[in-house]
This record gives sequence, C-alpha cells and structure tokens, in this order.
Amino acid sequence: MVSARRSGDEPDEDDFEIIEVYDSFQKVGEWRKPDGSQPNLRELGFEEEELCPPDLFSSMDPTDLSFSEATGNEGASFERSYHFAALVLWPKGRALAIVAHSAGLSTTLPLLDDLVRQWQQAEGDASSAARSDALELARHIEQQWPKSEWENSGLSRQGDTANFLTSLSCLGTVETAVEFIERVIIAGAYTKADNEALVRVLEQMSEAGRSELLDRLFRKKAVTCIDACADLLRKLTHVDYFQDKSATLGDFSSMLTVALPDVARAEKKGYRRPSACVVSPQLVVDLVAGIDPIDPYSASIVVEWLLTGPQDIDMDDVLLPAALDLNKLDGNQESASILHLIGTVRENLRQRIAEALESPADWSRPAKLTCHCSQCNDLSYFLANSMQSEWRYRAVQAKRSHMEATIRSSSCDIDYHTSKKGSPHTLVCRKNQNSYYSKGEQRKRDERDFAMLVQ
Ligand SMILES: [Zn+2]
Repeated sequence: MVSARRSGDEPDEDDFEIIEVYDSFQKVGEWRKPDGSQPNLRELGFEEEELCPPDLFSSMDPTDLSFSEATGNEGASFERSYHFAALVLWPKGRALAIVAHSAGLSTTLPLLDDLVRQWQQAEGDASSAARSDALELARHIEQQWPKSEWENSGLSRQGDTANFLTSLSCLGTVETAVEFIERVIIAGAYTKADNEALVRVLEQMSEAGRSELLDRLFRKKAVTCIDACADLLRKLTHVDYFQDKSATLGDFSSMLTVALPDVARAEKKGYRRPSACVVSPQLVVDLVAGIDPIDPYSASIVVEWLLTGPQDIDMDDVLLPAALDLNKLDGNQESASILHLIGTVRENLRQRIAEALESPADWSRPAKLTCHCSQCNDLSYFLANSMQSEWRYRAVQAKRSHMEATIRSSSCDIDYHTSKKGSPHTLVCRKNQNSYYSKGEQRKRDERDFAMLVQ
C-alpha cells in the first residue's frame, strides 16, 4: 500500500529519526590562593584549548555518572562529570581582565566590593595597589555592563546598579559614576533601588553638576518612572548638601506635579509601560511628603488632583492607606496639604460609619448582576423577591455553569449546590446574609481607621 503525505497530516513515527546530542561545559571553582585563603570568586568557564596538556580530558575517567530515563517528549540523558584539581596560571597583571571577561556581574560585583573594602582597610603600598585593582575591575565592569534596557531594569531592581554606583562613589571616581548614571539609568532603566546610591553620588558632586544631573534625570523619567523620582525627591529633602534646597528641588517638584495626570492617563488607556508605576499608596505618600517641604503650592495641586481629579483615585485602596501613612509622619500637622488629604479621607469614613447597618428585614437581596441575559434576569427576579428564600434552577450543565459564574462574579448573597437527582440536574440556590456580614466587617475597619486618623 502506498500512502501519500498531505499537508496538514499528523506526522507518523517514520517522519522522525533518533539522534544523539552531545553537549559539554567546563568550569573552574572552589578557588584557593597560593597561601590557602579563599578569594571571593565564583565559578569561571574556560575553553579546552586553555588546558595543559591540551588533550588532558581524553585520559580522564568520570568521577560521577548519572542516567535519566526518557520521557514522552525527551530522550534519555547520560551525564558524566569529571573533577580534578588544577593549577590556574594567569599572565601577571591580567588577572582582573580575565575574571571580568569570563565571569558575569554576579561574580565581578562582589569581587569589586571586596577590593574596595581591602583598599579601605589597607595602608601604604598595599592600599594603593588595592585601589588600582579596584579601579581596573570597575573599568572592566563598566565596559561590559549590558546595553539593553530590559536587562538593566532587572539589574536595577536586584540592586546591582546601586552596588556598582556605591563602589564607584567609595573609590571617589565621581566622573565615572556620573557617566554611568547618564548611560545606564537616565538613558536606560531606573528604579527606586538605585536611589540610595544616587543620593551618595550626588553628595560628591558640585552644586551645579548635581542640579544638571537631576534635571536630566527628572526630565527623562518623571512620567515613566514617577515612583522612583518621587522616592528620590523625598530622600533629597532629608540631605543637607544643597545650598538652597527649595530653589534646587523646586523645579523637580513641579515636574512631578505636572507628570502625575499623564501617568494616570497613560495607565487608564492601557499603554503604560511595565516600568512605569500605578498611582499606588506609596506614590501618593512619596509625592506629598516629598513635594510639600520644597513647594507647598505644588503639593496642594497634587492633593487636589488626587481628591477631585478625573481619574477617580480609589479611596479605599489608595487614599486611605496613604492617609494612614502620612498621619504617622513627623511634622504632618504643619502641612496644609497633608491635613487636607487626611481630613477628606476621614470625612469619607465618617459618612460611611453614619450609614445605617441593619440585617435584611425580608428575603430581598441586592439584585445587580454582571450579566443581563434572560437566564440571569430570572436570577435577578429571585434576588429581588422578598418572599422567596430558595430557587431550584433545573437546566443543562452549560446553563447551570453560566448561572454559577454570574453568582460568583456579581458576589450575590447566594449559597448554591447541584442536586444530581433527575436529568438535567438542578442548581439549588439559597439566599444568605453575606453582604450584611461584609458590611459589618467593613464597619469595624472603618471605625478602626477613623480612630487612627483622629489621633
Ligand atoms: Zn447571563
């Protein structure tokens, strides 16, 4: 029999052939210096050509064998490991370059940190040797720092960008630090995790230099990274190295005030970049507490926008937690904006607490549903009916599932189960008092929060 392959046919066994894949890697680790001490150096990869004699591996017996069975999609794998001691020789003066080129930042950044510490603890010749080693390694790290914004964003979040900047500022290489900030943070990725290190580098700069750098940072990042900018501004209100803090930081306060509606608009339209932030309670606290000491007028604009702006910033999820945090700040009683925000949130709570809270007098329950199809209309009538506590909905599974989905998505005051007597089965719906109970829980939270805001 002859079978012809047609496009779209399922492949059969004869279409595949079994092949073997060989893969290998080699690395050197568990380092010891000639004096027996253990350097802060992780595993480094190497090429077989670097071995002496070159065919060393061919005469080695494996020290470890492991065999894994084939699964449905994968073939079996057979691994052989070879371990042996090695004497590693590097050309004098090239050690750091070799490490920097063979290892990633997870190895070189801790090593740089070590070298900086050695330099800080050493004296005399040893001190200058440690410093020049640290500077050389820093240069290699800077040259090899990833270019992509995506990678830089990860490095920033996990604190690697800040660690490198801190090493640079410890070494006093402010120019290199500033170039790095321009290239990696301003033109690349910026997160809150960079800020401690940024504040430290700014301290070592001239007044004019730090103003220019901050200007470029805020112009570029005020909208896309407003959370990091607001956190930085708030940190800068606590430093004492500005000659005239209000004059220098005033422009940046205005930039954030203007950026806030843009951030919220971009978010609402759904084209917000992942690196940009939402209007979170922390952002509200950082903005108000950061801007107010510098520029009370801008702070009042921010608070007014938060309370009455077109974006409907959520009272319970955003403004209440922010007000509770701002309420704990030292000196908040002197800020008209903070008092206005706290007062509005408190009034909102007061009104909700004043609402009557009574258990349902009959069997009618809230009947607003997420779906308005004819089946769900029947559910809505049942919910509104003050005399009926139970409803038996006999229907095929698809219809019952749809009804269950509406009950869940509309948070109906209904407990339900399926009775499997007869065909089709029956969805048995019984009314409960969940809305009343959750209002009671809400009332307890409101009273607690109100008491805290009154203090
Ligand atoms: Zn429906």
